[in-house]
Amino acid sequence: MILTLKPDADPEAVRRALAARGLWVVRLDGADGPVAFEVRAHSRAVAAGELADLPGVAAVAAPPSPHPRLDAQPERIDVGGLEIGPGAPPVWIAGPCCIESEEQIEATAAAVAAAGARMLRGGAFKPRTSPHEFQGHGLAALDWLAAAARRHGLRTVSEALSERDAEAVAARVDMVQVGSRNMQNFALLRAVGATGRPALLKRGMAATIEEWRLAAEHLLVAGAPGVVFCERGVRGFDPASRNLLDLGAVALLAHVDRLPVVVDPSHALGRRDLVPHLAKAALAAGAAGVMIEVHAAPERALSDGPQALPPDEFAELLREARASGRASA
Ligand code: PEP
Ligand code: MN
Repeated sequence: MILTLKPDADPEAVRRALAARGLWVVRLDGADGPVAFEVRAHSRAVAAGELADLPGVAAVAAPPSPHPRLDAQPERIDVGGLEIGPGAPPVWIAGPCCIESEEQIEATAAAVAAAGARMLRGGAFKPRTSPHEFQGHGLAALDWLAAAARRHGLRTVSEALSERDAEAVAARVDMVQVGSRNMQNFALLRAVGATGRPALLKRGMAATIEEWRLAAEHLLVAGAPGVVFCERGVRGFDPASRNLLDLGAVALLAHVDRLPVVVDPSHALGRRDLVPHLAKAALAAGAAGVMIEVHAAPERALSDGPQALPPDEFAELLREARASGRASA
């Protein structure tokens, strides 16, 4: 952003006023034109309007944003009557990796609701790395999910894997998930946006933060009323941790962009013993919520058993979070 000063302005007074607002500037002196300051991108995110009225400032030029809809998205978005975003109580989203049966999702909903979760997750269309693994029960599973959630006062989120299913998934859940492997599937983003449901946008395994923001822009342009970001770990160099959970990205989205971002610690490391530690770190970094895989018998789970928390460990985690003021219930 470039500020051009009035001819009679005192450049040092303007510099001090900007510094007092947390802005670092570089003075740009033309041969005999007016004095200008460039606001350094990393000092603080600031809206052009905030600076235009400062004494001594004649004009503010800001490059057009590539994601104007996202920039205009409110800090908190409404998901079935539940607010998610900076300033709202952290939202705990829990449930199995995949919905395996009507009984399983009912029992899980009862357990996670009693522990303090506000939203039920569960995959019905599963993006599996191998075609030989369980692919999900499809729409029938979403009807089980919706019924169980209704009985226990929970909102729901589930993934749409293809544009073909977006409408049917959106008709059954409060928020439609776009999975990591599909973050830049633009046809799917358009279809999910067009359903008019809020979206949970998982970060692609090798996506930059700006690519992630632009994927959200696609959803918003297509008609999504709001996007909640979900950090789930990016591809790192070290196989000892399955993925590299980028809490720096979470802090940036939460504190600089002021956007709703939740963290999925289950898919990050792929190990249940570390999930509680990462969940707490996520909230400390500014996450507006946490999404955790919970399974009554992780050793028998049809997918992602090693990372699923049994319900009693999930309840214990929420008790600890509540004790430190990081759970809403
Ligand atoms: C999931 O949340 O069930 C899932 C498949 O996650 P991801 O897209 O992050 O791998
Ligand atoms: Mn999973």
